[in-house]
Amino acid sequence: MDNIGYCKLCRCFGELENSHAIGDAIFKKISKNNNGQGISVTSENSEPIQYTQDSWAEYQLCSSCEKLLNHKFEGYGLKALRGKFKPNITEYGINFIGLDQQRLAKYFLSIVWRAAHSTHPAYKDTKISACESEYLRQVLQNDEVIPNSKFTIKIARIQDMAQKPIFTRETTRELIISPFCRAYKNSTNVSVCMLFEGFFIEVFYKALPINQRGAIGMLDFRKNKLFVPFVNMFDIEELKNILALGYQKHHTGNTQVKFLSVSANNST
Ligand SMILES: [Zn+2]
Repeated sequence: MDNIGYCKLCRCFGELENSHAIGDAIFKKISKNNNGQGISVTSENSEPIQYTQDSWAEYQLCSSCEKLLNHKFEGYGLKALRGKFKPNITEYGINFIGLDQQRLAKYFLSIVWRAAHSTHPAYKDTKISACESEYLRQVLQNDEVIPNSKFTIKIARIQDMAQKPIFTRETTRELIISPFCRAYKNSTNVSVCMLFEGFFIEVFYKALPINQRGAIGMLDFRKNKLFVPFVNMFDIEELKNILALGYQKHHTGNTQVKFLSVSANNST
C-alpha cells in the first residue's frame, strides 16, 4: 500500500497523506478557472500540450506533519502571495509591510524540501544535499529560527512586458513550472527556482555574501518589510524557453487543447 510508510518529516511509521510540495490550493485555483483542468506543456518535444488534473502529489507525510507544514507556513505564505495582507502596489513592484519573512522563507523552503523528496516526475530536477535536507527537516519540524547566513531567497513578481502582452497580471498566476536547479559560474552555489502564483522564487542553498543580500527582492529573515520587484517574464531564460516550446507545439498542432483563452482581469 502506497499510503503506509515512514513519514519523511517526523520519521514515524503509519498512514501517510497524499502530500503536495507546491500546494493543492494553487492547482485548484488554476483548474477552477479552466473548467476543472490545468494545461500541461512539458519540455519533451514529442509530448503534446494536454489537459491535466495532476497536482504533483505523493504519499510523503503523516497527517500531523502535513497539518503542521500547511498551517504554520503554507497558509501564511499563500495569503501573502495572494495579496491578503494588503501590500502597496507601485509602478515597479510590491511593497509588503508587516510581513513575517521568517515564516515566508519556511513556506518556500518547505516546498523545496518536499519537492526534493518527491519521486513525481514534475520534481525530478529538484535536488538537495543530505546535509541541507536534514537541516531543513529539523528546522521545519521544530519551527526553529533560520539565520540569514544559512540560505538566501530572492523573489520577483512576473509580468508580461512585451509590446503586445499575451498574459495579464491575473493569468500569469496560472502558470506553474517544474522547479529546476541553477548552477553558477565561478561559484559552488546552487539554487532551486520555482514559479507559481505569478511569483518567481529562487532559493540559494548557500547564503550569498553579505554585500549582496540587501539587493532588491532578497528576503531578510529578521525584517518585516519586503519590496518585490516586477520583472519581465521573458527575461527569465528557462521560462522563456518553455513558453517558446509551448507556442511552437501549439503552432504545429502538437496539442490536445482546442482552445486557449486568456481572460482579462485587473487584480494585482
Ligand atoms: Zn510525520
